[in-house]
Amino acid sequence: MKYVIIGSSAAGVNAARELRRLDPSGNITMISADNGVYSRCILHHFLSGERTEKQLCFVEDDFEARYNIDFVKNAVCDKVDVQAKTMRVADGASREYRYDKLLIASGASSVLPPVPGLTGAKNVFNFRSIGDVKAIKAALPSKKHPVIVGAGLVGCDVLTGLLDAGLKPTLVDIAPHLLIKQLDTKSAGRYENLFRKAGAAFYFNASLAEAGVNGAGEVERVVLKDGWDLPCDLLIAAAGVRANTAFLEGSGVNTDRAGILIDDASRTNVPDVFGAGDVTGHSPIWPVAVKQGIVAARNMARSNGDDDDAKNLARLENFFASKTAMNFCGVPTMSIDMNEAPDANYLVETSDTAGSYKKVIHKNGVICGAIVQGDVAYSGIITELVANKIDVSRVKKNLFDVDYADFFNMKENFEFCYEQKQMEAQNV
Ligand SMILES: Cc1cc2nc3c(=O)[nH]c(=O)nc-3n(C[C@H](O)[C@H](O)[C@H](O)COP(=O)(O)OP(=O)(O)OC[C@H]3O[C@@H](n4cnc5c(N)ncnc54)[C@H](O)[C@@H]3O)c2cc1C
Repeated sequence: MKYVIIGSSAAGVNAARELRRLDPSGNITMISADNGVYSRCILHHFLSGERTEKQLCFVEDDFEARYNIDFVKNAVCDKVDVQAKTMRVADGASREYRYDKLLIASGASSVLPPVPGLTGAKNVFNFRSIGDVKAIKAALPSKKHPVIVGAGLVGCDVLTGLLDAGLKPTLVDIAPHLLIKQLDTKSAGRYENLFRKAGAAFYFNASLAEAGVNGAGEVERVVLKDGWDLPCDLLIAAAGVRANTAFLEGSGVNTDRAGILIDDASRTNVPDVFGAGDVTGHSPIWPVAVKQGIVAARNMARSNGDDDDAKNLARLENFFASKTAMNFCGVPTMSIDMNEAPDANYLVETSDTAGSYKKVIHKNGVICGAIVQGDVAYSGIITELVANKIDVSRVKKNLFDVDYADFFNMKENFEFCYEQKQMEAQNV
């Protein structure tokens, strides 16, 4: 069997490892625009100097030999032909690779906000690749007024990296507070205060109107829509991504505005073509990319001809859309799905004691969202309550007093499992 994987990050690498585990003699080729393997999640440590480039790598030193993978680096795919079952690499020789099963794990790229003056300016950067961070590091020594656009996870990473590098950045976002997708006002406020103490400034409910560019082609100030005029000698955009799907144009693989369309078995609409990770555009976080890559690999390695037998397919299950873990300014937080109740039909329970904040949002007994900040020991409990679909309206205890002992049960194979009936038997 000949497997080709496009992309060498969370989804691609984990798919390759799983393919090798399942198919010791298969031919695995991993083709990537990158020059190696690195984690984007820790790029801010490279920015601050806390980690070297080598310390960003998340595979074994002998990864290629150990898993017997043909890793083609610095190779950009520009075409997939699903009829001929080939993909093409756009280099001088325009090489073609034949596949039996193809995994598209090409991730996403950052986009600049459509603001006059930004495109083409020499001191405007994205924060997605190691190349972006190297360019920022090269520019950094002469800079005093960095501005970050976007207060999501990436924007907060950049903020951390710049603060650790000794700068005092300004962050601008259209949202009313930091990390609007993950946190509520209270938990975001804690981070904001800590960042302010470290030297950051914030403009919320604000967006860029224009960038003033000097004769050397560098942004020197940015003007916000409400009139604020801020000095800016380095601008980092962390406010949007686009799935890397251009090479699929005309291929017949279905995409939407977010990225390629896959089902919960990581299959696209085209037989033998799979997708995983940020290229799908939904839940663009590391653990989802890893799981989708592994699910794809399991289904790619099925060579027994029973691909139509839906019940034998590996599927992405027991996983909720957006579980996010973060740690800024030494304060860990976990958030799941909803962070504010949309209306009064949702019940909100909170606990706020000595640096530990917990919030659970539920409706008709179903947990719809949670935040655990500070002491994150409770995050395991909440994860189990969600994963095991425990009806919390029938839990008699205070939700924040539930612990593992209340609802664990042991299967015959000694695995723990968590069940409603167990909780009820124990009168929790
Ligand atoms: C700064 C930053 C911080 C983050 N922090 C977190 C975090 O704390 N927690 C978390 O869960 N997630 C975090 N994420 C998100 C996480 O990094 C992504 O979800 C994850 O990297 C997705 O992996 P992927 O394999 O789908 O794609 P990507 O990591 O985007 O990798 C895509 C791969 O495809 C290759 N490629 C692209 N186009 C082509 C082409 N045409 N031909 C060949 N190869 C191609 C690329 O070179 C790359 O190897 C962060 C992201 C960023 C940018």
